[in-house]
Amino acid sequence: MNDTECIFCKIARGELPAEKVYEDADTVAFLDIKPVNPGHTLIIPKAHYVNIFEAPEETLAKMMHTIKVVSHGIKDGLGIDNMNIGMNNGADSGQVVFHAHIHLMPRHKDDGYGLWHGKPYEPGQAHEVAEKIKKAL
Ligand code: AMP
Ligand code: ZN
Repeated sequence: MNDTECIFCKIARGELPAEKVYEDADTVAFLDIKPVNPGHTLIIPKAHYVNIFEAPEETLAKMMHTIKVVSHGIKDGLGIDNMNIGMNNGADSGQVVFHAHIHLMPRHKDDGYGLWHGKPYEPGQAHEVAEKIKKAL
C-alpha cells in the first residue's frame, strides 16, 4: 500500500531527500528535519498506514525492531542515553504527517523540554474507564 502524495512514502521510495540512518525490507529510519535535539529520528514502515489504528501488528513489530537497532546507534554514536520514544496518532494528539511514524527523541539534562502533567481521576472514574477498555478488547 502506497500513497503517491505522502511525503514519508516519497522518502521511503527515495523520491524526497532524507538523512536515512537505517533501512531494511519493511522500515526506514531517518532524521527529523526539525529535531527536538540532534539525532531525533523517525521510524516509519515502508507501507503506507495512517497510524497505530491502521497499521497491522506485524508492521508495528517490525518498527519495534528498528527502534531497538537505531536507539543503540543513537546511544553509541552520539553518546546519548536519555531518550523519549513517542507516537502521535490523530490530529488532536499532534499528528501532522499521516503516515505512521515513531519518534526517537534524544534528551539532555536541562534541555528545556518537559513532559505532560497528569490530572487525577474522579472517585470511581478509573474503574469505569478500565472496564470500558477491557470490554472493547
Ligand atoms: P508528527 O507531529 O508526529 O506527525 O510529526 C511529524 C514530524 O515529521 C515532525 O517532527 C516534522 O519535523 C517531521 N518532518 C516533516 N517533514 C519531514 C521531512 N521531509 N523529513 C524529515 N522529517 C520531517
Ligand atoms: Zn505514506
